[in-house]
Amino acid sequence: MVFRCIRVHPGASVALMASDLICGSVAVLGRPNVGKSTFLNAVLGQKLAIVSPKPQTTRGSMAGIYQDERSQIVFYDTPGIHNPKNKLSQYMNRQVQDALEGSEAALFLLDVKEGLTEEDHLVAEWLKGFKGRIFCLLNKVDAVPAGRVQEVAGKVKAELGDWTLLRMSALKGSGVREVVRELQKILPQQPALFPEEDLTDKSLRDLSAELIREQCFLQLRQEIPYGVAVLIDKFEEKKEPQPIVIQATIYVEKDSQKGVVIGAGGKQLKAIGSSARGQIERLVERKVFLELWVKVLKNWRKDEGFLKRLGYDPGGKK
Ligand code: GDP
Ligand code: MG
Repeated sequence: MVFRCIRVHPGASVALMASDLICGSVAVLGRPNVGKSTFLNAVLGQKLAIVSPKPQTTRGSMAGIYQDERSQIVFYDTPGIHNPKNKLSQYMNRQVQDALEGSEAALFLLDVKEGLTEEDHLVAEWLKGFKGRIFCLLNKVDAVPAGRVQEVAGKVKAELGDWTLLRMSALKGSGVREVVRELQKILPQQPALFPEEDLTDKSLRDLSAELIREQCFLQLRQEIPYGVAVLIDKFEEKKEPQPIVIQATIYVEKDSQKGVVIGAGGKQLKAIGSSARGQIERLVERKVFLELWVKVLKNWRKDEGFLKRLGYDPGGKK
């Protein structure tokens, strides 16, 4: 089931004319941590996708719908491509495939700070069968001298493919407009894919779970975040000015992790809850009352039934 996040898009002030609208789907690809989610947030001018310095933060693909007077571009933020180790990673790779199949263009992000890695070659392999136009975005140019960008650009041409190269800092926002402009040149004229007021294909409920998971990624150390899943048990929107009431459970894989997530005297859980609440409030522009529980569910990453409840279906499209 697809939920709609009904919000007025900040950029959509003029009613869209179906006849001359430039419109299309664009898959955002790259190995973990190159800045795909940061790009999505930058292009939308609003935080939707969760971001952390740890790889594999993003698990499912999420549509971010960019809109202006002449175009609607649906960007699919995807999990980073990697070698699958369990059902969850199988699902994550599958999401990338689905995003590619339905897209007219692909953005292949690279991290100029790190240079080319084996995983970038893996992504390039995936892209070989792609029929649409590919743009290669050299991201994080803010973090290196210009010579370094030049060097990586040369390597891309020599080792990966002869694609259009664009320089960008998703974090600082530079080069992001240029990406949109390039896409507007090549996407077809066709009717809008989503209603004008939609910003994403996810519901506030889904996005809230993601924002809680993001805080787990940001605040918990080492391997623990990878074993974390968040399910929203209750999402109740009462009339304003009453707050939105959210109850959620953070699932971990081991008993020992439960203690870490809760922390001494509940301090850690409080910190996760209070930061997540702040993030959700910013998104919904309302007061939020957030209650969190922690439960142990051994090996949930291998449990297909539970993965489905989370919306991760290893077998097919969501
Ligand atoms: P993803 O795994 O590809 O979605 O990557 P994220 O968007 O989660 O970003 C991974 C890390 O790289 C985060 O710490 C971001 O702040 C950082 N990052 C993303 N884009 C840039 C950029 O343009 N410059 C710099 N310096 N850091 C960036
Ligand atoms: Mg991501």
